[in-house]
Amino acid sequence: TLSTDEAEKLRAAITAACLALTEAESNLNHLDSGAGDGDCGSTLARGAKAVLKELEKDECGELVSRPSLLARRLAAIADATMGGASGGLYGLFFTGAASAFTDGSEDRWQEAIRQGMALMRRYGGAEPGDRTMLDALNPVWETLSLTQREPPLLRFEKAVQAAERGADNTKEMTARAGRACNVSASILQHPDPGAVGVAVWLRAAYTAYTA
Ligand code: ADP
Ligand code: MG
Ligand code: MG
Repeated sequence: TLSTDEAEKLRAAITAACLALTEAESNLNHLDSGAGDGDCGSTLARGAKAVLKELEKDECGELVSRPSLLARRLAAIADATMGGASGGLYGLFFTGAASAFTDGSEDRWQEAIRQGMALMRRYGGAEPGDRTMLDALNPVWETLSLTQREPPLLRFEKAVQAAERGADNTKEMTARAGRACNVSASILQHPDPGAVGVAVWLRAAYTAYTA
């Protein structure tokens, strides 16, 4: 269980992440319209709004103070409300992440991202480098594992920057997963919407967490 202070910072971070996704809706849809079917922003915004509703119900902080419970709830919300590829994939991500909090790992956030990605890769079939949200998530994990001796907030900041760089790097990548596979490389000049989405919510979470 998290301390009251930690739980409140986590709540602020999740709230900000969700608000940022709702604000990014049209931009992410625009990115998806060049690579897929133009709905990635709406899919993420739908999930974000459902999470905000859930947080409103969690007045006593029951949920935000228990990361494994929280991650499982986020998975259920993603599965139930989002639809699309990213709905199922976020469902897998949070389901995997939840196990990091139950098995007592020392570096739980790093481990949560690793286990979340592992489940997403197993059932989604994509790997880093395939032009998906994994190209924003994997640099986060890499950064956290390379900075273990550094202060937590500095690691968090570096991880956010890594996600942003990773998302931007998808511009140069060939799509090997999702709908973008069907689009000619000469047309894929924007970054992957799912990867940009990860950078958006992580940046907002960091800003609120450290405020
Ligand atoms: P769709 O409309 O194709 O059902 P979304 O628009 O909800 O899907 O999400 C598209 C995003 O999902 C992509 O930008 C990409 O980042 C991500 N994505 C697609 N396939 C995979 C996969 N197999 N693994 C990880 N991420 C994926
Ligand atoms: Mg789409
Ligand atoms: Mg779709």
